[in-house]
Parts: sequence; structure tokens; C-alpha cells
Amino acid sequence: MVLSTLFVGLLATIPVLAHDHTFCDSVVPPRNVTLPRNGTVGTNGTAFITGSPWRLTKRQTAPAPPAVPIYIHIVAGSQSRQDGYLTDAEVDTQMDIIHNLFQPYGITFQHDPSMRKWVVNASWAGPSRDNFNEMKEALHKGDYRAINLYIRNITVESYGGSCTNPWTHEEVNKTPFPSRLLRDGCVINTATLSGSGHAYMDQGKTAVHEIGHWFGLFHTYEDQGVRDGFNPPNPCWVGNPDDDVLDTPKCKGVAAGQCNKKQNTCPEPAGAEPVYDAVDNYMSESSDACYERFTEGQKQRMYAVYEKYRKGETRG
Ligand SMILES: [Zn+2]
Repeated sequence: MVLSTLFVGLLATIPVLAHDHTFCDSVVPPRNVTLPRNGTVGTNGTAFITGSPWRLTKRQTAPAPPAVPIYIHIVAGSQSRQDGYLTDAEVDTQMDIIHNLFQPYGITFQHDPSMRKWVVNASWAGPSRDNFNEMKEALHKGDYRAINLYIRNITVESYGGSCTNPWTHEEVNKTPFPSRLLRDGCVINTATLSGSGHAYMDQGKTAVHEIGHWFGLFHTYEDQGVRDGFNPPNPCWVGNPDDDVLDTPKCKGVAAGQCNKKQNTCPEPAGAEPVYDAVDNYMSESSDACYERFTEGQKQRMYAVYEKYRKGETRG
């Protein structure tokens, strides 16, 4: 399995950090972007990373965000269910999953049926994974504190979704308002809804993963040294900040659909207690059946990122 990452589409469109084995296209900012780093020291395994200069920044604390509005756009190829035209009940189910899985972390959402809209557009739905920006700019609602969730019928089975980190368009693209605001939001493939029958994305948890990105989380294997310019990348190196969260162990990645809870791609020194890869983490890109949790460090990071990058940004 090749785990290399590469930048494509640097001109005109959003740079996309693509993982050739994975199903999420979310963009990671370059290293020169200042990001909040946080985490909990002392969790099992952190002894191996406390020597990293990236990990010794002051722990950031922030309150839980107020209920986050979610606008849902159902983007279908036609008015048939086969082309992604969902029922209200299906949207309710997806919202229940989002509510239920974030609730243990003190994150709540505000949504009522007036905040969902059905859109039929044969170019936004279909085989293309692109043209997010045109779609988003046409449909976006609310300000930077609101999530826009596009349930888009993309007929690429391996595709799960993508989402913008709060700083993506400002720092990576230098995109001014209003485009920076209008392009904010998460896309999930209709095929990831609960009961879809997808081999590894069939419990509606792709939305949870993508909303994790909206709150500033990276994949648990993120970076792999590439963002720090290591050549060749060494994701296991003690100084690699990977996802900037202390209590998610360093990892080379998880094969889509896999759930080996004893996977350990960055083994500890001989004789030390093994710290297994966080394959059950929502940000691991393993599978819906495997996803079970965010860590305390991720929760704190979501709070801190919301406070710093979303709460105060009220333009639009
Ligand atoms: Zn992702």
C-alpha cells in the first residue's frame, strides 16, 4: 500500500491533498500556517512524543461551542432516490447520527427542517468529484459559525467526502470574502448514509469525520512528514507533529475498510508497551464499523479551533 501524498491542482482551484488509498479529499494547510496545537500529556504512549518541540506548546483551553447551526443541501441528479433525492426521514437519520456521536464531546447542533434544501443539478451530482466551489458559492447559508453539509450524489463508490478547515481558504488560497466564506463547508457522498450498503461507509459516520475537519481536526496519520519537508517522509519520527494532537498515536495510515485494533505502524522501542494505531478514531479513515471515538485532545482542539477561527469570524 502506498501512502504518499501529493499536491494537485495548484492553479485556479483549491489545492487538494490527495491520498491515493483513501476516501476523503480534505485539504491540509501548509506548514507555514500557524495552527493551534493542543492535547493531553500523560495519556498512554505520549512518553514517546513529549520530546518533540512541536508538542511543548502551551495547552489551549476553550469552552464548548454553542449549538452549531447545520444547513443541509441535498444535491441530487434528479428527483429520483436513485439519483440522490433523499426523503426527510433519511435526512433526519443522518442528523440523529451527527447529534448522537458528537454529544459525548459536548458539541451540539441546531437544525430544523427549514434548514434543509433539495437541489437537482446533474453536473453537481454524478461522477465528478470537482466543482465544489461553484456549488458551494451558489448554495451556502449562514456565517462562519454555521456548518453547510452538502449530501451530494457522487457516483464514485470509493468517494466519501471532503471538508474545509476553517483557515483553508484564507491561508492556502488567499481567497477573499465572500468566496472564502461561501466555499466553507462539508461534502459527503450520498452513498455514505446509514443503511447504504456501502462496504465500509454505511453508518452515516462519514459526516462525523468531515465535521471533525470543519472543527480543525486532521487525519490521525496526517502529514507523514510531508508537511515538514522530510525526504523521505518519516511519519514515526518523534518530532513529526502529524495531526497536532498529542493523544492520537503516530501512524502511517489505515487501509480503507480495515479495523485491526492491534495495528501498530509506528512501533515503540523494544521492550516498551505497544501503543496501537487509533484505527477506531473518527479521523482515521478506517471504516464506519470501526469508528468509535474522538480523543480528549481532539475534543480540546475542536473547542480551541472553534473559538479562535470560527466564533469571531462573523462576516457574511
Ligand atoms: Zn478526512
